[in-house]
Amino acid sequence: MKWEDNVRRVVPYVAGEQPNKPGMIKLNTNECPYPPAPGVAKLAAELDCDALRLYPDPDAGSLVNVLAEYYHVRPKQIFTGVGSDDVLSLAFMTFFNGDLPILFPDVTYSFYDVWAQLHRIPFQTCPLDDNWHICPDDYRQPNGGVIFPNPNAPTGILESLETVEEILSANRDVVVIVDEAYIDFGGRSALYLLEKYDNLLVVQTFSKSRAMAGMRIGFCIGSEKLIGYLNDVKFSFNSYTLNLPAQQLGAEAVRDDAYFHSVTGRIVSTRERVKKELRVLGFSFPDSMANFIFASHEKIPAQQLFAALRDANIYVRYWNRPRISESLRITVGTDEQMDTLLTFLRDYVSKAL
Ligand code: PMP
Repeated sequence: MKWEDNVRRVVPYVAGEQPNKPGMIKLNTNECPYPPAPGVAKLAAELDCDALRLYPDPDAGSLVNVLAEYYHVRPKQIFTGVGSDDVLSLAFMTFFNGDLPILFPDVTYSFYDVWAQLHRIPFQTCPLDDNWHICPDDYRQPNGGVIFPNPNAPTGILESLETVEEILSANRDVVVIVDEAYIDFGGRSALYLLEKYDNLLVVQTFSKSRAMAGMRIGFCIGSEKLIGYLNDVKFSFNSYTLNLPAQQLGAEAVRDDAYFHSVTGRIVSTRERVKKELRVLGFSFPDSMANFIFASHEKIPAQQLFAALRDANIYVRYWNRPRISESLRITVGTDEQMDTLLTFLRDYVSKAL
């Protein structure tokens, strides 16, 4: 068909499945196993539906102000979007407009190459070392921009801020995006480097540590200049991105800092306990600082385990791709969910060996 010559063809990103089966244990998309802050439920119950007649604030001002205060930056340094996927896609479109390839790790968030393809951005991947770490020297070659998550996904490896700065200082002429979707589970943010680098964009999300994946809220922080360019593109694309409830409920979640720290603290302590127990069962994994563990078993193929877990109504993530096909990415759930997982694995491993 002739019209097909004019179609923008892309191979889409495959998101983790969202089944809704009774009794299932869902450890496949790194959601938070705990509810959002109590004030969020209260505010949701009081939501004024009449207000939905009107378009929401296109600048998400109330949410931006709360975030600016929380992160000690100016409101003009913050940009929000419909999940960090929206922010990242717009950032690719805005900042990666050169002819040289952008650089990112070979094992990383598998949406990066999809956005590069979608926005027709040349890209080159830089192999992680044998311990799944980024090699900063790889980012010294001429390029059109740099992006990497810290901690990385699906490995969970956290790079030191020295490594982050090494990459930044070698790339002052392009935009460097640090995707901090998982920074709240034990890492320290690169935000303090904003004072020194006006080409740094730090992206974060409400989907993991703030337990609001269903609300779709993401944001980024950078120099006023970077944020200004992002806004120019956003307002040329879709002015009203964050809906009214997302703006109001998101701001409420940020206000309850004690709850935020109790939730992330619980997830971190569960993660550390599960690491010990998985090791005893013959699993090995990079030392994750995220809310998931990227584990492989010494004897049992990951694909086989994935299928067995699925049959037991326990969903984890598996990719049949080079370098990562021997591991399962297991989201850290509640202690109870992880105990069910561990009981299943103990039994399965003992029978399989
Ligand atoms: N970055 C990374 C590294 C992720 O793993 C995810 C979650 N899939 C995202 C960004 C996007 O998260 P969200 O759109 O829910 O904010």
